[in-house]
Amino acid sequence: MIIKPSVRNNLFTNSHPLGCDLQVKKQFENIEQNQEFVGPKNALIIGGSSGYGLSSRISLAVGAKSNTINVSFESGPKGKRPGTAGYWNNVAFHKYVKKHGGVHKDFIGDAFSDEMIEAVSDYVKNEVGQIDLLIYSVASGARKNSKTGELVRSFIKTLGDDVVGLTMDIVTNELYELQVTSATPEEVDSTVYVMGGSNWEDWVTRFDQMGLLSNECKTISYTYIGGETTKAIYRGGTLGKAKEDLEATTFRLDKLLKEKYNGEALVSSSKAVATKASIYIPQMPIYVSCLYHVMIQENVHETIEEHKYRLFKDMVYGNQRIVDDLGRVRLDNLEMAQNIQDKTLDLMNHLDIERFFDLQGTKVFLRDLYQLNGFGFDEIDYDEDIDIEELDQDFEYVKV
Ligand code: NAD
Repeated sequence: MIIKPSVRNNLFTNSHPLGCDLQVKKQFENIEQNQEFVGPKNALIIGGSSGYGLSSRISLAVGAKSNTINVSFESGPKGKRPGTAGYWNNVAFHKYVKKHGGVHKDFIGDAFSDEMIEAVSDYVKNEVGQIDLLIYSVASGARKNSKTGELVRSFIKTLGDDVVGLTMDIVTNELYELQVTSATPEEVDSTVYVMGGSNWEDWVTRFDQMGLLSNECKTISYTYIGGETTKAIYRGGTLGKAKEDLEATTFRLDKLLKEKYNGEALVSSSKAVATKASIYIPQMPIYVSCLYHVMIQENVHETIEEHKYRLFKDMVYGNQRIVDDLGRVRLDNLEMAQNIQDKTLDLMNHLDIERFFDLQGTKVFLRDLYQLNGFGFDEIDYDEDIDIEELDQDFEYVKV
């Protein structure tokens, strides 16, 4: 099969297995250069096949020699379709984790479903015993309500006036305006249902009821705060409402884990990075490109795996935790530093549209977007005909 990038409406509709393999390999190699730390023996990651969940999994498997269980919603190759990037990331994870030892298990299916919670908790009960860390890193546009069977969608909308902002066409490299309209109360509720904290709470509650949480067990999820330039649409919009709900869930889970296990629940604000959804949030691609540019210049740019390695080594299991007055772990301290925000804002305010795509930060943002799907690597010959069936022969997972 010859696989070239296929993009529809600014979304990749395919992925390249060898590029996904390389992307995961690079994350392993990067973390392998860092010192080990004492972390969880057994970590469960909900949403560990891409983005922040994947880099968390790699940081823990390599940095803390943790055993990992990953739940993700991915599909393998079928006919002419090469499978999703997350599927191939899972395949590559198993390939590169071998030399680090440990037991690593994958469940593929819907984390919102009762069946998945049952399948994973049964596995933990029968094969693992207890978990020491539960990471909730799901990002989804929709969630099936298991009681009614209804598919509920999330919305990227404002809570007040319509907002117009720039975004980029990732194929033609052009900037264009994107308008985001005001959400109805139902749309706000739906977004909170999909991207808020209720599914995280379902997982922790079920594991608690079944006695599957260890003494001093921790759980963590990821939020985003961001600055003034993305406020109207992100933190002040439907997604912000969902994040408020996620953060409120942390307080309830923290109370439970503290009282019963001497453990804790954390929510960490992570740095803005290239992700599937960022292109649909007006101003976000511009902000992230300018932010990357400034952070690279100031020598504080981190790759996604460096970011999560720092989270676990320094802030979750280390003694360098930075917490704000709402109790959130501020891993985004480098992004939010005043000089970085001022310089990013200045760059955005004086943006030379003609030269935007020449900025180093824009190039890195676009490269990251392509590489998330296994494209854009100089090392890979995208004209090569690859035998896709060979590539996932050793990958074993439980389909739920
Ligand atoms: P991503 O799209 O890269 O990964 C999402 C993961 O969720 C994948 O593993 C996917 O398989 C899994 N998933 C989606 N639907 C699922 C389902 N129904 N069942 C099981 N698994 C499912 O996302 P990401 O950008 O890494 O985001 C992860 C979290 O980090 C989100 O809460 C997001 O808001 C937060 N965050 C992201 C950024 C950013 O810039 N990307 C910044 C701060 C916080």
